[in-house]
Amino acid sequence: MLIGIVGGGQLGRMLALSGVPLGFRFRVLDPSPAAAASVVAQQIVGDYDDPAGIARLADGADVVTYEFENVPVEAARKLATHVPVYPPPEALEAAQDRLAEKMLFERIGIPVHAYTTVDSVGELRAALDHVGLPALVKTRRLGYDGKGQVIVRRASDAAEAWVAVGGQPSLVETLVDFDREVSILAVRACDGETSFYPLVENHHRQGILRLSIAPAPDLPPELQAAAEMYAARMLDELDYVGVLAIELFQVGAHLLANEMAPRVHNSGHWTIEGAETSQFENHIRAVAGLPMGSTAVRGQAAMLNIVGRSPQPDEVLAVPGAHLHLYGKPPRPGRKLGHVTARVNDPHELTAAVARLRSLPGVG
Ligand code: AMP
Repeated sequence: MLIGIVGGGQLGRMLALSGVPLGFRFRVLDPSPAAAASVVAQQIVGDYDDPAGIARLADGADVVTYEFENVPVEAARKLATHVPVYPPPEALEAAQDRLAEKMLFERIGIPVHAYTTVDSVGELRAALDHVGLPALVKTRRLGYDGKGQVIVRRASDAAEAWVAVGGQPSLVETLVDFDREVSILAVRACDGETSFYPLVENHHRQGILRLSIAPAPDLPPELQAAAEMYAARMLDELDYVGVLAIELFQVGAHLLANEMAPRVHNSGHWTIEGAETSQFENHIRAVAGLPMGSTAVRGQAAMLNIVGRSPQPDEVLAVPGAHLHLYGKPPRPGRKLGHVTARVNDPHELTAAVARLRSLPGVG
């Protein structure tokens, strides 16, 4: 069976790495030559919206999936008339526009924080009265890793903020005073069977995920149950197949949805060592029509991203319980070059491992 993946970055690479043992072959479409996934998949060099590239990706493929959410929806829809495309293009459509995403969350009863849509600096000024200060302005489209976002602390900063987001249709949101950020990863098979990984606690710096702790410490069962209920609603609503991630803010005993990603997610990388079946393998199993694997946790895990520069592998691997994943990408400031997962049996060991790993260049 041949699986096509739109995008050949680290997520495509880890998807292929998990699917090769199951007997699958992979082909990826990515504009940068020698993309991260090309060591484990045949690569077609082309833009994600290049019709010829998409046609070549799909030619002879049994199923097509994607590793990022900015695949043009029209291209995904067209493709879906020839070959199964999972997750469904409707999920892409919702995730690409922050307004559509928020409205979908609200429609199916997933709580969100206050927001208003703005199309001009005048509307932005009015919106600040509604959502209050400080507020966050986010472009509706093409924002990721904190890009396309500006904090507004004073009403007089509105004009500057509008320029900073490029004067594009945006959302203005309350800056949530959350206790912590968490995410839920869920997977749904072709037959509708659904499983969940435990909530993960996430720490960001400069808008980039640096550290995930799994399961999230001090996790009340009610919080896990609420997150699973929200994710299940979304999966069923979209008749979803594959892995879905929802990023949430925990405020007291409540969860507010921030955004979702219709794909495998950085906050699920710990599952490679920390769960019975990784998010990558479960995504591949789901899109290939196979039974799901157990999402049960093995011990405790912390995942630290390697950003901008790489540590010495021997220094990483000298830390007990550490597993190194390098994506083979040239270093660049702010670029995710790899990750390290520390997997241990005792929470104290985890704290020690994280502290040691964080002292290494680029880690966490
Ligand atoms: P996003 O692109 O929406 O995932 O935002 C990136 C990061 O910015 C989030 O993980 C949070 O750390 C922070 N953030 C985004 N929206 C808000 C908000 N409304 N209030 C507080 N922090 C936010």
